[in-house]
Amino acid sequence: METTGGCHCGAVRYTAQGEPLQRTNCHCGNCRRVSGAQAVAWITVPVTALTWVRGEPVRYRTDTQAARTFCGVCGTPLTYQNDGRPEQVDITVGSLDNPEAFAPTQGFYVDERLSWVPLVTEVR
Ligand SMILES: [Zn+2]
Ligand SMILES: [Zn+2]
Repeated sequence: METTGGCHCGAVRYTAQGEPLQRTNCHCGNCRRVSGAQAVAWITVPVTALTWVRGEPVRYRTDTQAARTFCGVCGTPLTYQNDGRPEQVDITVGSLDNPEAFAPTQGFYVDERLSWVPLVTEVR
C-alpha cells in the first residue's frame, strides 16, 4: 500500500509505503502549539518508508528531543521524529491525501488534553 500526502500549497509532497505501525491522536502541548490545533492525529511509519517526492520540508528542533518538519512556504506540519526512536517517523494525518482512512485508535499524552477535546474511545 502506498500513502500519499503533502502540504497545503503543494510545495512539499511525500509518499509512505506500507501499513502504519500505529495511529494516534496526540494531545500534548508541544503538538498543540506547533500546529495551532487542539490535537494532532499521526500515523507512525518506518523512516525508510517515507520519501519526499517534491520539495524539502524545513526542520525544526523542539525541546522534546525531536525534530519536526513543516512546509517552509505554507507552514503545514508534516512529520515528527523523536531521537528515542530514530527508526520511526510520525506523519500528520491532516497532511495525507486520504485522512479518512487513518482514524486514530489511541490517544497520546491524554494528561495534557484540553478538557473540551474528545478522546478517541473507539478502537478500529
Ligand atoms: Zn506548502
Ligand atoms: Zn504530541
